[in-house]
Amino acid sequence: MNNSEEYAQYRKRRIAMMKKIIIMALVILIILPTVLCIILFIKLNSIQKQLDTVMELRLQQAFSQQVAADGKEQSMDGALYNENVDTQELKDKSDIKHDVSTVEKDEKLYSGKRVYLTFDDGPSENTDAILDKLAEYNAKATFFVVMKTDEQSVERYKRIVSEGHTLAMHSATHVYSQIYSSLDAYISDVSSLQDYLEEVTGKKPVFYRFPGGSSNTVSDVSISECVEYLEQQNIVYFDWNVASGDADRNNVPAYVIASNVINGVETKDDAVVLLHDTNAKSTTVEALDEILQYMADTGMNVLPITEGTIPVHHRISK
Ligand SMILES: [Zn+2]
Repeated sequence: MNNSEEYAQYRKRRIAMMKKIIIMALVILIILPTVLCIILFIKLNSIQKQLDTVMELRLQQAFSQQVAADGKEQSMDGALYNENVDTQELKDKSDIKHDVSTVEKDEKLYSGKRVYLTFDDGPSENTDAILDKLAEYNAKATFFVVMKTDEQSVERYKRIVSEGHTLAMHSATHVYSQIYSSLDAYISDVSSLQDYLEEVTGKKPVFYRFPGGSSNTVSDVSISECVEYLEQQNIVYFDWNVASGDADRNNVPAYVIASNVINGVETKDDAVVLLHDTNAKSTTVEALDEILQYMADTGMNVLPITEGTIPVHHRISK
């Protein structure tokens, strides 16, 4: 091979290499900005979504405060719940936390927290609709029930148990003046309901909620003595740390109930939510779609109260 041939080959190789380098540079220059653009676009979208959620919650919160200020008529239950100092204190504290930092809030949104939805005062004509909604979202709840002996109510107790929810005790009569008239009357109310529910479902209920909460001020009996009785019977009582506001009056708009629940659970790792299952509370049923969808979207676990659940207790007033 002579020199000129060698030189020609060297040139060829050099040109080929230059071509390669130019093509690679072009590819990098085109692909890199495209990938960056896609990443930025996805990020922008998710930030926009988070911003929308926050704005919506703020609007709902503002409206619910106005509704609460406007609503002066209150049911007996509602009046009792509003007297509840502990719940009010908890609410105030969580409001402060809520405003400290949206970043902190967003972290909590995706933390897989535990939510215990509890329905008081059932069964009612709305029980089946509540159970249907829970089934649709594969969520489990707890029903603190009263004693009803009609055929439909019996079916509803059974359905609650058979679909994996927790059937818990609230009161046999739910008449405060009777239940809290004496310790004997109290014991007879609780034990008659416990026996009845065991007879109907074959399962002994062990969870309980005081009518009006453990911090109620209407009881003539010392609540501490009632608690002592419950402990002797291995009955665990639960108050709540999130109030849906559905007992404030009838027909509280569904989105107000939903925003109360959503704002409440955001500030707690273990949220016990107070809702009601009565004929008059159809907006509670309507609120379930928004509540359950939100919990599904944010990865919250909607669970029934079981042995391992940490009880939420209010401050007992006497
Ligand atoms: Zn009640």
